[in-house]
Amino acid sequence: MEVRDPVCGMRFDAEQAAATAEYRGGTYYFCTEHCRTAFEEDPERYVECEGEV
Ligand SMILES: [Zn+2]
Repeated sequence: MEVRDPVCGMRFDAEQAAATAEYRGGTYYFCTEHCRTAFEEDPERYVECEGEV
């Protein structure tokens, strides 16, 4: 399953995700722990962008 890192926009297979986070019942995948940290600091900012892809 291909997923998209909401922080940096990188696409990759879910199995290769370095980190995951759950928010509002959804699971988000990240290429690095750094991206997850950025997401958790301000999830609203990144979740809003999902619909534009
Ligand atoms: Zn990333």
